[in-house]
This record gives sequence, C-alpha cells and structure tokens, in this order.
Amino acid sequence: MTHLLNAIDEQLKPWLKERGQGGYRAAQVRRWLFARRAADFAAMTDLPQALREELAAEFDLWSAEVAKHTVAEDGTEKLLLSLRDGGQVECVLLRDEIRRTICISTQVGCGMGCVFCASGLDGLQRNLSTGEIIEQMLRLQLLLAPEERLSHIVVMGMGEPLANLDALLPALVEASRDDGLGISARRITISTVGLTKAMRRLSDTNSRYRLAVSLHAPNDELRRQIVPVSDKIPLVDVLAEADHYFEVSGRRLTFEYVLLGGLNDSPDHATELANLLGRRTALVNVIPYNPVAGLPYRTPTAAAQRSFRSVLEQRGLAVRFRHRKGDAIDAACGQLRRRMASVPS
Ligand code: SAH
Repeated sequence: MTHLLNAIDEQLKPWLKERGQGGYRAAQVRRWLFARRAADFAAMTDLPQALREELAAEFDLWSAEVAKHTVAEDGTEKLLLSLRDGGQVECVLLRDEIRRTICISTQVGCGMGCVFCASGLDGLQRNLSTGEIIEQMLRLQLLLAPEERLSHIVVMGMGEPLANLDALLPALVEASRDDGLGISARRITISTVGLTKAMRRLSDTNSRYRLAVSLHAPNDELRRQIVPVSDKIPLVDVLAEADHYFEVSGRRLTFEYVLLGGLNDSPDHATELANLLGRRTALVNVIPYNPVAGLPYRTPTAAAQRSFRSVLEQRGLAVRFRHRKGDAIDAACGQLRRRMASVPS
C-alpha cells in the first residue's frame, strides 16, 4: 500500500476525483491529519463511512510502528520507530514552559562519522522518505494533551539533514503550511555538519528556515579529528556558506559546539572560537557532551563549562548552553536505538 504522507495532495486529489468526490474532501483529510490529530481514517467522522473504508483500503496512514515510548520526569517524551524494512529511528518531544519542540530524524544511521556521536557508529543505512519524516511529526503531535500545541521543530535527530534534502524539504513544507502543522519557518531549525553544496542549495530555495551549523572545533586541525567530513570542507568554506545563508534568509545563525572534556573545552579553544566567529550575528549553542556507551569521550567539568562560557560572553557572543533534557531516557541522538539494538529480542 502507498504511504499517504509521502505526497498527500498528489496522491489524494486524483484518487478522490476518480471517485467523484468534491475537492473539499482532500482539505478535510488534511485537517484531520494535521489539526484534528486523527490517529486513523476511521476517526475522520465528517467523511462518509464508505469513503473512510476505501481510504483505509487504499492508503497507509502510518508506515512505521512505535517500538518504544519513553517519558522522562521533565516531560520529555521519546519514540523509537521501527520502519517497514526493520530500520529504526528516534524522535523526541521536548516541553519547555509554553514551547513544545519536536526533534526529528532524517536518516537511518548517519554517514558523517563524527567521532563522539551514537548515530553514526554503524554508518548510514538509508535516507528516510518524506512520509517517514512527516510521520515523526504527527506521531509526536499525538502525544500532546488537547490544549498543547507544537511550536518548534528542530531537525537534530539521527542523520545529516542536508544529505537528504530531497525528502526533508517537502516534509518541512507540510510542517509550515497553514493547512499543515502551521509552524512558521522561523520556528524550524535545520542542523548540519556543514555540507557546503547543500547549504547553497538550501539558500537557493529561498529558505526561511533557521540554520544551525555544527562546528565542534575552532580550527581545522582539531575539527578534522572530531568531524571527519571536514577533511574535505575547511572551516573557511563552511563559514562563508553560513554567511551567505544568513544574507539570503535574514535569520540569525546558530553555531553548535559539542563540549568534549579535555579535547575542545579549554579557555584557549573558547578564545580561538570567538576569534573565528568575530562579529557575526550568531548564537553559539554549546552542548556539554552526553556520554555514549563504549565511546571514550566525557562531559567537561562544571568549572570547564563555566570558563568556556565566560570567555565567549566576555567577547560579546550570544551563548546558550543547551539544557540537558531527557538524559534519563537517552534523548541524545541515536542513543535509544543503540540501547535497543543491544537488547536481545
Ligand atoms: N548531522 C547534523 C545533526 C546532528 S544532531 C549535525 O551534525 O548538525 C544535532 C547536534 O547534536 C549536532 O551538533 C551533534 O554534533 C550533536 N550531538 C550528537 N551526539 C551528541 C552527544 N552524544 N552529546 C552532545 N551532542 C551531541
């Protein structure tokens, strides 16, 4: 069966037309999916019963199964989804005051090989489809209480989003459309390891999304050790492409920096980072390392974190330390999937 979420209008409209149904039916289905949070076609009660049954016989609404659902005390919820071919991805709902942010994946595994990251340990299995990306959004939305609303999306789950733009961009269009999830583009952040060609492609589409670029080191020598793809893409090129994106989109850039104890967390590294970023209009998002079982990296000490931060702040940079939400449920990238994989079934 076809997965409806892969191309909602393109599949639904001709199908409805063939059955002599009015054009408004497609809009009704969309409303049920995105606004009224239907979990299946049967719930779409303003469609005739027979049509609901035909829809269910023709289309799959979901293509994945929830293999695990975990809830942390701070309100963070995480889903591990099993895909049709057995691949698994994770997605997360974060609650922060009135914000309801979802973090979604774009690939099964990851080909970038950042040395500290759980997602890439087994390499890239495959890209997710548009439908599989939208499904994460809708399944997370189903976890909300009726009075809660999704407010933000971060594309910071498993995988490198800019290596799967073909599937991601249509999914984000559905997220931002008024008759989709209605989340405005400025509340959607795409995080990249810094693939310059794809960054240019994104700016060429007149993208209004926010861009976050993972730096993790203030110089090429250290970055090559931590982020292997930087072998071919030096920092000057990454920053030039980020600047171009800023000019085109008008959105303040975010630079991410995973703080790894004893590796990239000294005050000198902070000074070098401040020099590198100079007077850019940017937010530095520092992420104290979330340990991954079996990897030798560690979270920096509280003192190291404090001095790293104060060096950046003294230099006038906007700095945010990412809250460690969801630690108890392995909410960092790719960690739940690994834990499940190591449990014999
Ligand atoms: N491929 C994209 C998205 C990765 S996930 C990118 O590289 O930006 C989003 C961020 O979380 C990245 O900056 C990534 O390096 C970081 N990250 C991955 N594993 C982590 C861990 N165990 N602890 C802290 N941050 C991590």
